[in-house]
Amino acid sequence: MKQSDVAIAGGGVIGGSIAMELARAGLRVAVFDRQKPGQEASWASAGIISPAPENPGMIATVELGKKSAALYPEFVALVEEISGQSAGFRPKGTLEALFSHDTKAELSTIIAVHHGLGLKAEPLRAEDARELEPALSEEVEAAVLRPEEASIDNRALTAAVLVAAERSGAELFAGSSVKAIWREGQGCRGLVLQNEKVEAKWTIITAGCFSGTIEGVAAYAPVRPAKGQMAALRADELKIERVLWSEKIYLVPRNDGRILAGATVEYAGFDKRVTAGGIERILSAAIELAPGLKNARLEEMWAGLRPDSPDHLPILGPTDLDGLLMATGHFRSGILLTPITAQLIREWITEQKVSLDWDRFSPMRFQAAAANAAQHAPA
Ligand SMILES: Cc1cc2nc3c(=O)[nH]c(=O)nc-3n(C[C@H](O)[C@H](O)[C@H](O)COP(=O)(O)OP(=O)(O)OC[C@H]3O[C@@H](n4cnc5c(N)ncnc54)[C@H](O)[C@@H]3O)c2cc1C
Repeated sequence: MKQSDVAIAGGGVIGGSIAMELARAGLRVAVFDRQKPGQEASWASAGIISPAPENPGMIATVELGKKSAALYPEFVALVEEISGQSAGFRPKGTLEALFSHDTKAELSTIIAVHHGLGLKAEPLRAEDARELEPALSEEVEAAVLRPEEASIDNRALTAAVLVAAERSGAELFAGSSVKAIWREGQGCRGLVLQNEKVEAKWTIITAGCFSGTIEGVAAYAPVRPAKGQMAALRADELKIERVLWSEKIYLVPRNDGRILAGATVEYAGFDKRVTAGGIERILSAAIELAPGLKNARLEEMWAGLRPDSPDHLPILGPTDLDGLLMATGHFRSGILLTPITAQLIREWITEQKVSLDWDRFSPMRFQAAAANAAQHAPA
């Protein structure tokens, strides 16, 4: 039987960052991943760091997102320093292009919503937007510049975080599938692997969209996979500086010259197949936004599974089992929310209190909702 202060189930960017934080705080940390760590959503992502809500449902995460985005420069510097690897951080802002016929009304609504949420956003005329980003289509009628937003090469970040976790003293176990939480009475004593148990004072579930498949976890983290297909393009003659958005798509430039285009949101179970229809939608929207991409080389296509929760909000914090915590359900914002997630979990474990109100994201909310529904069900 293995023993540790902290046992973490899942070595994506979330599990890896928590491991790094806790190991740096002096705890013995063991991370178990059923495959090579860092190969799921954290690898498949686009890496946009934007706290702006994509829809009204996401307004609940804006404060968390803002805090996390503010932590990013320091977080990246630390990860890069410990790992000795670059994470491809690009704090260059993002630009949302509007094609609408009623652009004026749309523009003022978007700006008002952003300012109401304390997010920096500037309206741009079409010609000013194209001066900043000449790749933009002539059909674009106006734009919103969010100068404080950023992007990061999530594959590089995740790899660097995992190295930084190990160099900080955490142990990573690849090919170690977690079967169940080790429940004893009202407490959690650790994890049950295929052939052994791991005893730990603290157990943290960070298995992304697979978290609910670990026995004993679904009541706290009823997550499901939301598939996203992506494509990587290369167009040497086309310069894109910032992340570009339209209603249908985003384009994310990387330091190595690739331009990522994504992404679909599909509920198709644990299916990571790339489909003709998915890629067709992505490519036609990409070319609509930046017509020069018509001649781009298609370098790579892939799909990944976002960890979605019933209310699309992250699932963070302690449960009613002593020692058991969740850090999952980050859905479309797991890269954005990595630094704040790692910080909050570290604060809870080392100080039993956190620096911001995270009750809204409690893993206990699903049991309360289920009990409420049962109480009001017709007899
Ligand atoms: C196409 C796409 C685009 C995205 N774009 C963005 C974006 O622009 N910005 C943003 O902020 N977020 C984005 N996201 C979301 C973000 O990538 C995720 O929220 C984040 O990566 C989740 O990280 P994680 O560590 O929780 O999960 P994962 O990276 O999925 O890691 C979970 C780990 O758990 C392991 N595991 C699973 N089951 C077990 C088990 N039983 N035992 C042991 N280990 C197990 C897996 O092998 C995996 O390594 C995107 C996601 C996708 C798919």
